[in-house]
Amino acid sequence: MKIHIPTPLRVYAGKQDVVDVHANTVGGALEQLTSAHPELKKHLYTEQGKLRSFVNVYLNDEDVRYLEGHENAPVKESDSISIIPSIAGGSASAISPEALAEGQLPELTTDDLIRYSRHLILPDVGEEGQRKLKAARVLCVGTGGLGAPLSYYLAAAGVGTIGLVDFDVVDLSNLQRQIIHSTPDVGRLKIDSAAEKLKALNPYLNVVKYNTMLTSANALEIFKDFDIIADGTDNFQTRYLVNDACVLSGYKPNVYGSIFRFEGQASVFATEEGPCYRCLYPEPPPPGLVPSCAEGGVLGILPGLVGVIQATEAIKLILGKGDSLIGRLLLVDSLSMRFRELKLRKNPDCPLCGTHPTVTKLIDYDQFCGISPVEKTSMEVPLKNGIPQITPEELKRRKDAGENVFVLDVREPYEYKIANIGGYLLPLGELPVRAAEVDRDQKIVVHCKMGGRSQQAAEFLKQAGYQHVENLAGGITAWSDKVDPSVPKY
Ligand code: ZN
Repeated sequence: MKIHIPTPLRVYAGKQDVVDVHANTVGGALEQLTSAHPELKKHLYTEQGKLRSFVNVYLNDEDVRYLEGHENAPVKESDSISIIPSIAGGSASAISPEALAEGQLPELTTDDLIRYSRHLILPDVGEEGQRKLKAARVLCVGTGGLGAPLSYYLAAAGVGTIGLVDFDVVDLSNLQRQIIHSTPDVGRLKIDSAAEKLKALNPYLNVVKYNTMLTSANALEIFKDFDIIADGTDNFQTRYLVNDACVLSGYKPNVYGSIFRFEGQASVFATEEGPCYRCLYPEPPPPGLVPSCAEGGVLGILPGLVGVIQATEAIKLILGKGDSLIGRLLLVDSLSMRFRELKLRKNPDCPLCGTHPTVTKLIDYDQFCGISPVEKTSMEVPLKNGIPQITPEELKRRKDAGENVFVLDVREPYEYKIANIGGYLLPLGELPVRAAEVDRDQKIVVHCKMGGRSQQAAEFLKQAGYQHVENLAGGITAWSDKVDPSVPKY
């Protein structure tokens, strides 16, 4: 009788697609096959001699598991046996099918058996699941509030390869929530600090560091080495970039989380069967409408809560177990401690994953999100929405030269207490009612922490008829970096 060998396993069967054997039972036939090709044995059977769960054996057109006597079922010379490597458990695992089908899952070491013993006794994880985790490759975009708990728990759970993308350095104000970084890490690259903590927790991890901003130019190249992408970013440009790159990479699951003040969201986007982020939000909000965490604040534990939900979803996708958040948007309100969910549907008109997609390659996400590129004037002072963007060095030069310049600080009073450069404090939110405090005829330089709120204030003043309004690019943070390091950064 004939045994059909599937493509991925042929390399272990002398490159044959069909092997001839003579036996009375299914088990006897397989025994002959594996004694002629011992390499095949460890891909088909566990060490306990059981058929691996991702391998199905068919006698003619019937699964052997449904035959009377199972492997002891009798066979005739005219029968044929087919070995069909499947993706375990019915629910698809996010690991590449090659890794599963070829029986290439890494073995567990003795250390692994001890380290993951609480997983191994869970029926839905077990040895097979733990080996899937070990084979899995998850990319964490951002090592901030969400990326910290997310990557930490993935490392603890035994996800074998964790990629980290970040270009930022650890700042003292990050430590309120980005728990993977510690006080001695302030000033270090976040990816270095995070990689060190992950390796300390789990030395067998493969941590891949990308010291860069994720861009349209590098996203597809970076994504290709990962099975799942976890989005822990805090801006719309990167969020759309991650989503689009996931879909364009052939539907890599995008495990999404976002946080603002006391509220969070989580979902799984960009799977073939489910919606993508653009199905939910085809267009980004106009810039300035949704403040960032730096401007709006965030409760420190909230990214912990949402990041752990993301880690849970990533692990379920790897195991191919449970109901994932595909097609559901989970809303977390930490103040009321209420979890709600919304049903999400794949939008057939989605510009990215719909039936007639118009987005077929990565685009300029700054432009898409309305972040205007810096315009140049003839005097080489960059303009943004018509507002000159002056450097900290230029402001210092004017101050030193005794020029008459009115520095307007639009931050909050608590920020002013941490650090100030002697500006006139008038928080952005109070500007519309207190604008009269600012003399129209003065030359005004507006600043905030990073330059975002001050840009809004400058645009407001210009519209209100103020003639000489400029924005301090990079805010007091840039001032500290470029002019006076004694001004604390926060
Ligand atoms: Zn879509």
